[in-house]
Amino acid sequence: MRIGVVTDIHSNLVALETVLADMGPVDELWCLGDIVGYGPWPNECVSTVRQRASAVIAGNHDLATIGSPLVELDDFNADAASMTQWTASQLSPESSAFLEELTPIRDMGDVTLAHGSPRRPVWEYLLSSAAAAESFEYFRGKICLVGHTHIPSLFVNRVDGDVSADYMQADTTFEPGEQRCIANPGSVGQPRDHDPRAAYLILDQNGMGSSFQWRRVSYDVPKVQTEMRRVGLPPFFIERLELGV
Ligand code: ZN
Repeated sequence: MRIGVVTDIHSNLVALETVLADMGPVDELWCLGDIVGYGPWPNECVSTVRQRASAVIAGNHDLATIGSPLVELDDFNADAASMTQWTASQLSPESSAFLEELTPIRDMGDVTLAHGSPRRPVWEYLLSSAAAAESFEYFRGKICLVGHTHIPSLFVNRVDGDVSADYMQADTTFEPGEQRCIANPGSVGQPRDHDPRAAYLILDQNGMGSSFQWRRVSYDVPKVQTEMRRVGLPPFFIERLELGV
């Protein structure tokens, strides 16, 4: 089974559509949360994910936008809070209803999906091998998929017991064999690894085992920035897209 894994779309419809076209045919599409926030097309992104994805979990931005008690707006800085209020004001009843059904962690067969980490699904940023080492205690299967950091990465619980942490460049592949791993595709709509291209992951699972491929694709950043300016989103969120930060 070939699974496309996307996360942190952040209302960037141009990046999402470019990723889906680049991905080609997949058996399933999974989304690890933060469909909305930062970008100008929240409803369009929710509707595309709702139609295309067979598994979706909630991110901190999705939860903040619908006023979930799991997230306090006070945890956001001023620009992020005003952007969240703008997103909430745009959300259709259908989009809200869809986001309200989502949980920040769920299992798909023997693969665990968590937005931040299996230990703290809403807020934890998995950036180090030490943090990842603790997270391996919080899921049962061999594979966990996370988002939230916007950085393509891989944590492997190696046979010697150590946990490795690696940044995954475009077109890097990995076959875990018997090892357990936590993989992050990187962000579709707001990459933060100084590479502005949209990021996603292909997970192939067959009788021989699993394999991962990290992929990047360029999209029309100026088109997104023009729409963000038109709807009046904060300048920093507009500028960061071309820098990938
Ligand atoms: Zn995010």
